[in-house]
Amino acid sequence: MLSSFDPNDNEGGLKLLEDLTQNARQIQEQVIEKILTQNANTEYLKSFINGCHSPDVHLFKNTVPVVNYEDIKPYIERIANGEPSNIISAQPITELLTSSGTSGGQPKMMPSTAEDLDRKTFFYNLLVPVMNKYVDGLEQGKGMYLLFIKPEISTPSGLMARPVLTSYYKSKNFRNRPFNRYNVYTSPDETILCADSRQSMYCQLLCGLVQRDEVLRVGAVFASAFLRAIKFLEDHWKEMSDNIRHGYVSDWITDPNCRASVSLLLTKPNAALADLIDSMCGEKLWEGIIKKIWPKTKYIEVIVTGSMAQYIPTLEFYSGGLPLVSTMYASSECYFGINFNPLSKPSDVSYTLLPNMAFFEFLPVEKNNGELSHCNGGSVPPADEFETVDLVDVKLGHYYELVVTTFTGLYRYRVGDILMVTGFHNSAPQFRFVHRRNVVLSIDTDKTNEDDLLNAITKAKLLLEPLGVLLTEYTSYADTGSIPGHYVLFWELKNRGGCESLGELESSLMEECCSSVEQSLDSVYRRCRSKDKSIGPLEIRVVKHGAFDALMDFCVSQGSSVNQYKTPRCIKSEEAIKILDSRAVGRFFSRKTPFWEPFRAQYSQ
Ligand code: AMP
Repeated sequence: MLSSFDPNDNEGGLKLLEDLTQNARQIQEQVIEKILTQNANTEYLKSFINGCHSPDVHLFKNTVPVVNYEDIKPYIERIANGEPSNIISAQPITELLTSSGTSGGQPKMMPSTAEDLDRKTFFYNLLVPVMNKYVDGLEQGKGMYLLFIKPEISTPSGLMARPVLTSYYKSKNFRNRPFNRYNVYTSPDETILCADSRQSMYCQLLCGLVQRDEVLRVGAVFASAFLRAIKFLEDHWKEMSDNIRHGYVSDWITDPNCRASVSLLLTKPNAALADLIDSMCGEKLWEGIIKKIWPKTKYIEVIVTGSMAQYIPTLEFYSGGLPLVSTMYASSECYFGINFNPLSKPSDVSYTLLPNMAFFEFLPVEKNNGELSHCNGGSVPPADEFETVDLVDVKLGHYYELVVTTFTGLYRYRVGDILMVTGFHNSAPQFRFVHRRNVVLSIDTDKTNEDDLLNAITKAKLLLEPLGVLLTEYTSYADTGSIPGHYVLFWELKNRGGCESLGELESSLMEECCSSVEQSLDSVYRRCRSKDKSIGPLEIRVVKHGAFDALMDFCVSQGSSVNQYKTPRCIKSEEAIKILDSRAVGRFFSRKTPFWEPFRAQYSQ
């Protein structure tokens, strides 16, 4: 399934992509045949295909249900607790990848195998010829990619549970990635693999500054992480320039591997570079700072599609007009697709799904009055009533929810992403990422859905009830105007007595409400907020009576039906936000960081 190719061979890589996309149907048939033959005897598949040793795709689709995480969670937990992998996979499960989606407040865990690492490497290697096709001379300089690992835990079975990128960065495939041994990346592996995120960030930026003349591209995985790095630079550039001036790394960098690897680059004092950094970073306005500090940079590689699109204006401010490049679409379940046209505008980005990565099916989704719902009726039809469409049969302009069957033990699994077909490359469809099902708020890798938000608010508002204050309406938005961004909730309150005046709301009580909401949000939110510091304190803006009526008038003026109007639980339009903001009578912020520890419930041994 994975043809080997040399990532130095641009022509060979592009030819391989042509072959994959020309033969998408046949490759998909081979993929599902291979998955079924390999795994026919797993407990999971056997329970549906009833003893058939050579199941075909028709039997598979007729008998195996389309599932959500909750359906497969018991199987995954059994494996985490020490039962053999062949419950779901003939190949041994070598680790569990914790996804940013959550179930019952805890991260979802996706199975992974040794072979899966090679599949990811194959995928990453294919990004190289695509980029080289559009940007010349990248081999003549360096990439400043700011990459980070996250905490991991060992499950009772001894399997590691960790985010997919942490798993990849810690693998030998990453260490041996193309060109790494020629030092084409400014961050030494040791700085990426440092578990202390502040030391890691400091050292990576310092290395990027030292090698500024050679840098031809900069990036991070997601736009949010890249902006966090810029903020970190704003806070620490003076210390970094002092380090460069004296050829000495700050004492608080205590991780021995980080220290050693950075010291190899900071071999002697460099006053000229330190002066230059002081003059550029010392300017009040940081507009275009990326281009100033790294003048040869040709593009910024960060994902700016989906929820990351909210960061485009801020990135544009700092970038000085550099192209923003989203190269790939991937998840913990599986790596999906590549952007074949990396220099396209963020709003035009489409991903071509690679047909050898998994078996892909699509649940049709309809767009009515701007709202997307499943064609089978209702937004969530029962799992066994789904009619899916194959990869090569999707239709231009149509919307679908992605369903995958992977080589690692997921069968007809709903990823939760809604995609729209924008075109075809040969017979392989290209998709625009539309949004993730149900998610209303996201700042970093957190994904908060309407129910999570409602539950958290329901708990928090109890704090107001003893005072006779009721929450009558709420909505929210992700405020990314400052770094890090934070959740904002608009609350309309009234006195139980009917009196509209609330008097002086006690700040400490409202701050408690903010903290209570945060404490009820899921573990990824709390990790981002407490450990990664990639989300700022949650804010509640209390709005005056009638503010939500004004919001309704606005939504109706934009085409919402009066009869069917429901208060949106998240707003994105600047005008809608302004309407509520102009009626705000109080702003309160959480003063505590919420409690977080990895895997609180299941694995506290
Ligand atoms: P995780 O399970 O934490 O690895 O997150 C994977 C999810 O992140 C995907 O299912 C998407 O919802 C989102 N995602 C990944 N890549 C992209 C992309 N290029 N554009 C938009 N969203 C993405």
